[in-house]
Amino acid sequence: MLFKEIIGQQEVKEKLLRLVRDDRTPHALMLFGPEGTGKLTLAVAMAQYLACNDRQKDDSCGVCPSCIKFGKLVHPDLHFVVPVLKTGSMSAPPVSDDYAAAWREALLADFYLTESQWYESLGAENKQGIINVKESETIIRKLGFKPYESDYRMVVIWLPEKMNQPAANKLLKLIEEPPEKTLILMVSEHTDKILATILSRTQLFHVPPVSEADIREGLMQYEQADQQLVEDAVQRANGSFSNALQTLRQDEMELHHFELFTEVMRLCYARDIIQINGWVERVAGVGRERQKQLIDYSLRLLRENFMLHMENDTLNYMSAKESEFSKRFSPFIHEGNVHALAEAFTLAGNHIEANGNPRIILMDLSIRVIRLLMQKVPAAD
Ligand SMILES: [Zn+2]
Repeated sequence: MLFKEIIGQQEVKEKLLRLVRDDRTPHALMLFGPEGTGKLTLAVAMAQYLACNDRQKDDSCGVCPSCIKFGKLVHPDLHFVVPVLKTGSMSAPPVSDDYAAAWREALLADFYLTESQWYESLGAENKQGIINVKESETIIRKLGFKPYESDYRMVVIWLPEKMNQPAANKLLKLIEEPPEKTLILMVSEHTDKILATILSRTQLFHVPPVSEADIREGLMQYEQADQQLVEDAVQRANGSFSNALQTLRQDEMELHHFELFTEVMRLCYARDIIQINGWVERVAGVGRERQKQLIDYSLRLLRENFMLHMENDTLNYMSAKESEFSKRFSPFIHEGNVHALAEAFTLAGNHIEANGNPRIILMDLSIRVIRLLMQKVPAAD
């Protein structure tokens, strides 16, 4: 990871660069602040800079053998300690090394990885990881070896607040009597849960929320997204680039579903079987997970349109685009067909989940929708 790839945080970058340039690298350093601000990325960029064979004034070179290894997170002098938890049939309490490949993959896919995304990637949503004493012993052993390729042995400890008491005590000993040429880089979101004795022996760097301007620029680099969606994500980010990215991806997905849903509703209304067939072919190719999401999205928008038809505006949760479409569409969704429509979509979702043939399921659904949209509003008694 190069410093220039990190969104914003110019001041922190400058401080870290100066430490290395002035040869004042401490043996323990902590980047702390709210989630989603790039702390972990900054820690890796700092380690890479320290190990780079051709250090530039403001960044690592990015092309030397050391940088190449950092780019894949496989440098032999770079170690990670991250909170982990038992998954599957694991019997012993796990350590980071048990998940080394998963960690590399998750971090390379997204340097703004959050704690909950990490657990999710391990298939363990809603669980909490910890850093246990076996982990601290492993770090001490690793840092006891001579560095293989660089001058330093470096360990990035992500979320040291997840250490239990014995682990934290071992870490404290290590920080009190660090081996030569060692850099311990801690990345914390809750310094209040870390031993004061660890904090007092560590050089602390506050990493503030990312500015709106930096988030905007970063999103443009990351994703080629619609201007309106980017702006929405910036407004809702709260200084967290991870939030911004998640919001943007979610919104992009919703927009895509919106387009598919409105398209097929128009085609069904026009009874254009040839075009419907084209739509079915396209949606059949996107994978079951996406198809199920589209069905869920459709159910939501149908419900919103029914509410709108019943003039119950207080229960309306639609984006500007959805509202615009629904003004024209809601007259067709009424008490005479809304239940049958919801049933048709739910059934299609169940069949998709049960690995049915998506072409048949989606075509069958479209034909039902054609019939249901033709139904007139039942006359009032
Ligand atoms: Zn380099």
